[in-house]
Amino acid sequence: MGQNDVLFERAQKTIPGGVNSPVRAFRQVGGTPRFVTRAKGPYFWDAEDKRYIDLIMSWGPMIVGHAHPEVVEAVQRAAETSFSYGAPTEGEIELAERLCELMPSVEQVRMVSSGTEATMSALRLARGHTGRDLIIKFEGCYHGHADSLLVKAGSGLLTFADSTQNAPSSGGVPHDLVKHTLVLPYNDVAALEEVFKNQGDHIAAVILEPIAGNMNLIQPASEFLGAMRSLTAKHGAVLIYDEVMTGFRVALGGAQSLQGITPDLTCLGKVMGGGMPMAAFGGKKEIMSKLAPLGNVYQAGTLSGNPVAVASGLKTLEIISRAGFYECLTAQTEKLMAGLKQAADKAHIPFAVDSVGGMFGFYFASKVPTSFEEVTKTNIDAFKKFFHAMLDEGVYLAPSAYEAGFTSIAHDNEVVAAIITAAEKAFKRM
Ligand code: PMP
Repeated sequence: MGQNDVLFERAQKTIPGGVNSPVRAFRQVGGTPRFVTRAKGPYFWDAEDKRYIDLIMSWGPMIVGHAHPEVVEAVQRAAETSFSYGAPTEGEIELAERLCELMPSVEQVRMVSSGTEATMSALRLARGHTGRDLIIKFEGCYHGHADSLLVKAGSGLLTFADSTQNAPSSGGVPHDLVKHTLVLPYNDVAALEEVFKNQGDHIAAVILEPIAGNMNLIQPASEFLGAMRSLTAKHGAVLIYDEVMTGFRVALGGAQSLQGITPDLTCLGKVMGGGMPMAAFGGKKEIMSKLAPLGNVYQAGTLSGNPVAVASGLKTLEIISRAGFYECLTAQTEKLMAGLKQAADKAHIPFAVDSVGGMFGFYFASKVPTSFEEVTKTNIDAFKKFFHAMLDEGVYLAPSAYEAGFTSIAHDNEVVAAIITAAEKAFKRM
């Protein structure tokens, strides 16, 4: 038994399933999760001191690479002046100003500690603002684990729950609550038009992943986004872009900057905290001013705007704002995907790839899927074999075929070449 097995067995005694977030448990792929001891740049080391090239990067946040010296220094400096005050600081204003600059649709922003809190609060705000209850979400999109959003949800829910029913994807979520959540297929303009035609004046909000990353990576059609923006505007519903994953990951201005869409509210997380528990939601001032203490929509947090997390976020945003950052990140990610595709072709394995900025998807299928339904038809058995072969070769992929992957600026030519070499061996073994 290796040290990872020892730790996994020990963990399961006091932590349900041995993990603090379900997808870490390797349930879809089988085997023992790797317990991490340290990480640097594109690499982490496990409890057996084996080195892996990381292609999850904490599920997105570590876009400048693990333990970037400038971020470490900023965090250390902040930590020396205490970890938390529960009173406002200038750093929070700086971070808010920077977020508003980088995403012009965000006129005001409120900081929270997780993506779940961001989407949950944005929904409450949208409902408070419109005085309506109904919300629309899309099949296979994951927006954190707030009750209203656990219907046909992506990410771990696709692995663990029966997502075929239009019912809560999780136990403990009241049917009475979920009846206010309408779930539509991603990229289906006709379904969206139909719902707005019948119930448009009762819809508080439409929430979406503007590039879906929780059912592998799925890109939206521009007609789909255009229809969503015009229908929500016409019916007075709030359009919520959940950019917890895509914000600062696909481009400096998020998916909205690539798509030319101005949402009413945006949810952020992951990269904006550089790996610290930090997230936010923001948007039109007219809507944001309905939040307490100004308005009657309540939202709060003991650790919101935490000064150490703010320091990490500010330094990370500074680094990603430097000239050429996204050109380089995008080019390296594209190079990686092209190399994987070429290796699969050589082995005559049906394989498709996609990427946007530092976020990527690969599919054991002959073409890139456009919906949740298509993703579920990709070859999951082939994925499992590939995952374990890559793990043996020292490359750590997301342990599920229903997740996007993530690179960082530290994934340089040498690292990309090493991943492709590993993939050539992995495909050959399959
Ligand atoms: N929204 C999206 C799009 C996400 O990808 C995630 C997490 N993967 C969340 C919300 C929830 O964020 P958190 O895990 O920080 O609660």
